[in-house]
Amino acid sequence: MSIFDETVVKAKEVLDIAGKKTNDIIAVQKIKMSIASLKSQLSKMYEALGRLCCDNGTETPSVNMLELMSEIEERIAEIKSLEKKLAALRGEKICTVCGAKNTSESLYCNKCGSKLPETETKSAEEVDEAENSEKESETCCDCGCEVKSETTDSDSEN
Ligand SMILES: [Zn+2]
Repeated sequence: MSIFDETVVKAKEVLDIAGKKTNDIIAVQKIKMSIASLKSQLSKMYEALGRLCCDNGTETPSVNMLELMSEIEERIAEIKSLEKKLAALRGEKICTVCGAKNTSESLYCNKCGSKLPETETKSAEEVDEAENSEKESETCCDCGCEVKSETTDSDSEN
Protein backbone atom coordinates (compact mmCIF):
# COMPACT_ATOMS: atom_id res chain seq x y z
CA MET A 1 0.00 0.00 0.00
CA SER A 2 1.56 3.22 -1.09
CA ILE A 3 1.22 6.55 0.59
CA PHE A 4 -1.02 7.59 -2.27
CA ASP A 5 -3.55 4.85 -1.55
CA GLU A 6 -3.66 6.01 2.00
CA THR A 7 -4.34 9.55 0.96
CA VAL A 8 -7.22 8.40 -1.21
CA VAL A 9 -8.69 6.41 1.65
CA LYS A 10 -8.40 9.40 3.93
CA ALA A 11 -10.03 11.64 1.38
CA LYS A 12 -12.90 9.19 1.12
CA GLU A 13 -13.26 9.10 4.88
CA VAL A 14 -13.45 12.86 4.97
CA LEU A 15 -16.13 12.74 2.29
CA ASP A 16 -18.11 10.19 4.31
CA ILE A 17 -17.89 12.29 7.43
CA ALA A 18 -18.96 15.30 5.46
CA GLY A 19 -21.65 13.20 3.79
CA LYS A 20 -24.29 15.72 4.62
CA LYS A 21 -22.13 18.48 3.27
CA THR A 22 -21.66 16.80 -0.10
CA ASN A 23 -24.69 18.52 -1.54
CA ASP A 24 -23.25 21.81 -0.44
CA ILE A 25 -19.92 20.99 -2.06
CA ILE A 26 -21.68 20.18 -5.34
CA ALA A 27 -23.68 23.36 -5.06
CA VAL A 28 -20.48 25.33 -4.46
CA GLN A 29 -18.91 23.78 -7.57
CA LYS A 30 -21.98 24.60 -9.64
CA ILE A 31 -22.01 28.18 -8.45
CA LYS A 32 -18.28 28.50 -9.12
CA MET A 33 -18.81 27.24 -12.66
CA SER A 34 -21.69 29.63 -13.23
CA ILE A 35 -19.58 32.52 -11.97
CA ALA A 36 -16.71 31.49 -14.25
CA SER A 37 -18.95 31.31 -17.30
CA LEU A 38 -20.57 34.64 -16.45
CA LYS A 39 -17.15 36.19 -16.08
CA SER A 40 -16.04 34.91 -19.47
CA GLN A 41 -19.26 36.26 -20.97
CA LEU A 42 -18.51 39.55 -19.30
CA SER A 43 -15.02 39.83 -20.73
CA LYS A 44 -16.38 39.12 -24.22
CA MET A 45 -19.02 41.80 -23.69
CA TYR A 46 -16.43 44.29 -22.55
CA GLU A 47 -14.39 43.51 -25.62
CA ALA A 48 -17.42 43.99 -27.87
CA LEU A 49 -18.25 47.20 -26.08
CA GLY A 50 -14.73 48.46 -26.62
CA ARG A 51 -14.99 47.68 -30.30
CA LEU A 52 -18.35 49.44 -30.58
CA CYS A 53 -16.83 52.37 -28.77
CA CYS A 54 -14.01 52.61 -31.33
CA ASP A 55 -16.39 52.23 -34.27
CA ASN A 56 -18.76 54.78 -32.84
CA GLY A 57 -16.14 57.48 -32.55
CA THR A 58 -18.49 60.02 -30.99
CA GLU A 59 -18.95 60.62 -27.30
CA THR A 60 -22.64 59.74 -27.37
CA PRO A 61 -23.11 56.01 -26.84
CA SER A 62 -25.07 54.26 -29.56
CA VAL A 63 -28.16 52.14 -28.89
CA ASN A 64 -26.09 48.98 -29.32
CA MET A 65 -23.64 50.18 -26.72
CA LEU A 66 -26.36 51.05 -24.24
CA GLU A 67 -27.94 47.64 -24.70
CA LEU A 68 -24.61 45.96 -24.17
CA MET A 69 -23.97 48.05 -21.08
CA SER A 70 -27.25 47.04 -19.49
CA GLU A 71 -26.47 43.42 -20.28
CA ILE A 72 -23.09 43.82 -18.64
CA GLU A 73 -24.79 45.25 -15.57
CA GLU A 74 -27.13 42.28 -15.46
CA ARG A 75 -24.21 39.86 -15.56
CA ILE A 76 -22.43 41.75 -12.80
CA ALA A 77 -25.55 41.63 -10.63
CA GLU A 78 -25.86 37.92 -11.31
CA ILE A 79 -22.25 37.30 -10.34
CA LYS A 80 -22.74 39.30 -7.16
CA SER A 81 -25.78 37.28 -6.11
CA LEU A 82 -23.97 34.04 -6.91
CA GLU A 83 -20.99 35.12 -4.84
CA LYS A 84 -23.34 35.89 -1.99
CA LYS A 85 -24.79 32.40 -2.30
CA LEU A 86 -21.31 30.93 -2.35
CA ALA A 87 -20.36 32.82 0.78
CA ALA A 88 -23.50 31.62 2.55
CA LEU A 89 -22.72 28.02 1.65
CA ARG A 90 -19.19 28.38 2.97
CA GLY A 91 -20.37 30.10 6.11
CA GLU A 92 -18.69 33.34 5.12
CA LYS A 93 -20.23 36.69 5.78
CA ILE A 94 -20.57 39.36 3.16
CA CYS A 95 -20.65 42.84 4.58
CA THR A 96 -24.00 44.41 3.78
CA VAL A 97 -22.39 47.83 3.70
CA CYS A 98 -19.26 47.47 1.59
CA GLY A 99 -19.59 43.91 0.25
CA ALA A 100 -16.28 42.70 1.70
CA LYS A 101 -15.88 39.01 2.49
CA ASN A 102 -15.46 38.11 6.14
CA THR A 103 -15.08 34.83 7.97
CA SER A 104 -18.06 33.35 9.76
CA GLU A 105 -16.44 34.17 13.11
CA SER A 106 -16.11 37.86 12.36
CA LEU A 107 -18.44 40.15 14.22
CA TYR A 108 -17.37 43.28 12.41
CA CYS A 109 -16.35 43.88 8.82
CA ASN A 110 -12.59 43.75 8.35
CA LYS A 111 -12.82 46.48 5.74
CA CYS A 112 -15.29 49.08 6.91
CA GLY A 113 -15.92 48.01 10.52
CA SER A 114 -19.69 47.68 10.16
CA LYS A 115 -21.46 45.15 12.33
CA LEU A 116 -21.97 41.91 10.46
CA PRO A 117 -25.19 39.88 10.55
CA GLU A 118 -25.43 36.84 12.80
CA THR A 119 -23.87 33.65 11.47
CA GLU A 120 -26.36 31.43 9.77
CA THR A 121 -24.88 28.44 8.04
CA LYS A 122 -27.32 27.63 5.34
CA SER A 123 -27.65 24.47 3.31
CA ALA A 124 -27.99 24.67 -0.46
CA GLU A 125 -31.77 24.43 -0.34
CA GLU A 126 -32.09 27.05 2.34
CA VAL A 127 -29.95 29.40 0.29
CA ASP A 128 -32.26 28.84 -2.66
CA GLU A 129 -35.20 29.69 -0.47
CA ALA A 130 -33.42 32.73 0.81
CA GLU A 131 -32.93 33.89 -2.74
CA ASN A 132 -36.62 33.61 -3.43
CA SER A 133 -37.52 35.62 -0.38
CA GLU A 134 -34.83 38.13 -1.24
CA LYS A 135 -37.29 39.92 -3.47
CA GLU A 136 -39.14 41.04 -0.38
CA SER A 137 -36.15 42.76 1.10
CA GLU A 138 -35.25 46.14 -0.25
CA THR A 139 -32.00 47.12 -1.81
CA CYS A 140 -30.13 50.30 -1.09
CA CYS A 141 -30.44 52.65 -4.04
CA ASP A 142 -26.95 54.02 -3.48
CA CYS A 143 -24.80 50.94 -3.43
CA GLY A 144 -27.29 48.16 -4.21
CA CYS A 145 -26.63 46.41 -0.93
CA GLU A 146 -29.36 44.64 0.93
CA VAL A 147 -31.38 46.66 3.38
CA LYS A 148 -33.05 44.62 6.05
CA SER A 149 -36.61 45.57 6.74
CA GLU A 150 -37.13 46.69 10.31
CA THR A 151 -40.17 44.53 10.80
CA THR A 152 -38.20 41.25 10.81
CA ASP A 153 -35.93 41.88 13.77
CA SER A 154 -37.42 44.17 16.31
CA ASP A 155 -34.95 45.35 18.90
CA SER A 156 -36.63 44.86 22.24
CA GLU A 157 -34.28 46.57 24.61
CA ASN A 158 -35.43 48.19 27.80
ZN1 LIG B 1 -17.87 46.38 5.18
